[in-house]
Amino acid sequence: MSDSKFPDPEEMQRRLQAFFQSAFPQSGAATEPVGEPELPTKLKDDTFDFHLTPREIKAHLDRFVIQQDDAKKVLSIAVCDHYNHAKLLHERTQRGEATPLEYAKQNIIVIGPTGVGKTYLIRHIADLIGVPFVKADATKFSETGYVGGDVEDLVRELVQKADGDVSKAEHGIIYIDEVDKIATAGGSIGRDVSGRGVQTAILKLMEETEVSLRNPMDLAGQMQAVMEVQRGGKPGRQSVNTRSILFIVSGAFSRLKDIVEKRRRHAQIGFGAASEGDALKPWQHEVTTADFVEYGMEAEFIGRLPVRVACDALDAGDLRRILAESEGSILRQYERSFLAYGIEAVFEDDALDRIAAMAAEEGTGARGLLTVCERLLRDFKFDLPGSGVTSLKVDADLIDRPSARLATLLQCGLGEKAQVLRRAATEFLTRFEQSHGVALRFSSEALDLLVEKATTEKRPMRELCTELFKDYEFGLRFVQRSPEGAPLILPRAAVEAPDKFLSELVVQAYRERTTHESSSDAAS
Ligand code: ADP
Repeated sequence: MSDSKFPDPEEMQRRLQAFFQSAFPQSGAATEPVGEPELPTKLKDDTFDFHLTPREIKAHLDRFVIQQDDAKKVLSIAVCDHYNHAKLLHERTQRGEATPLEYAKQNIIVIGPTGVGKTYLIRHIADLIGVPFVKADATKFSETGYVGGDVEDLVRELVQKADGDVSKAEHGIIYIDEVDKIATAGGSIGRDVSGRGVQTAILKLMEETEVSLRNPMDLAGQMQAVMEVQRGGKPGRQSVNTRSILFIVSGAFSRLKDIVEKRRRHAQIGFGAASEGDALKPWQHEVTTADFVEYGMEAEFIGRLPVRVACDALDAGDLRRILAESEGSILRQYERSFLAYGIEAVFEDDALDRIAAMAAEEGTGARGLLTVCERLLRDFKFDLPGSGVTSLKVDADLIDRPSARLATLLQCGLGEKAQVLRRAATEFLTRFEQSHGVALRFSSEALDLLVEKATTEKRPMRELCTELFKDYEFGLRFVQRSPEGAPLILPRAAVEAPDKFLSELVVQAYRERTTHESSSDAAS
């Protein structure tokens, strides 16, 4: 094994640039060393304008998020504070007043179990304000050996989400879930170094820092940057400032329940019984900084998250409301996917009760709704498209006896489909008559056979008929019929062997004509 050391990023940039200069000397190379390479970023000066009130944000969230009233309120206030301040800073900078204002940043920590709307709330806020949004799990960072760099990737990801618009990215939202998983074990020094490392890395971002637009470990990116400079690109923004990025972290913190309740019990012993209202408040609304520290979060980390938001677990009633009332209800998603196949799906009230109850048993919050619906409707989604079924009533009976209902639906679907195909065959003959002036009708047996053929061969009826009867336009000219006579019936034999049937018709017509001519000759 060679013991040559892998160069550090700066050294790598120097070597790459030297390589490019020697390999492509004519390329008008920039001569200064490439400290931070240029990125093709858009630089708009006035991208950010915030004008919402907490009430307006909450009203928007109410359309999508069921329950979590406290969380909606606290988030709305914190978000308004944050963006009003960011706007003020922006305006001052525009006017050349660089003095930083005294301001404690409103980063947020959300406590709540999985699937209760934490991400959903934040995504909708980002969407409403029109800022880029990035989400990651804190656990992802501890798995890699390169802690700080990965956390910084979140900021670079924001720039990507903002289509390279750095100032837009600087007002984005970074959401880090599962921060409870990067707690050190009960605060004991020396354990869970990686968890503490990730907390420190996130902390650094939450305080103001500059993040390079290029990951120093990204070799391909570095090469691209050097090439851009070689081509004589203009220097652009090279880093992102995290001052106005809103950081939101969250976690279930389930072990915190014991810590909070223990503290509450102690308080009761110390100061007499707590008031009834206090006793009723769920633990997650009562967490203090000391509780977080006992849990294993770094005091500095929690200190940077002054806004505490609690999201409550959702019961079956809440889940039912999510199905029925949320604008983002997954039922709309199911309706749309069935409609794509021409099937109108309708969800009855008794079905919603059943789905919500089953989802509550899953214990994964509103995520359970999707799990249950997928399980219940998977076969319907697979078998109904193309079956001729045009409507699907999802009621309690369907949920209780899905296989039986599916079989009945498919049977009816076959009937409906046959009807549609028979109509298409009859329409073919109508168009034939309009174009060629010959009135034709299929016998009922002929129609049955056509339906069978179209179904087994999976072909559109019109295409099938056009092919089967392609010679009829020409052949039928030899079969003279009086215009006012009854239409010519095409029997099952005409579908089985259209050419044979046509030639027999022609022969028969010829015979009739010659007999007719010879009898009239004889008469004259
Ligand atoms: P988490 O709390 O784990 O971040 P999510 O916000 O990702 O959970 O929720 C998953 C999905 O469940 C959301 O995309 C949304 O469709 C639905 N959902 C969760 N909570 C609610 C809620 N309170 N109101 C309406 N829909 C919700």
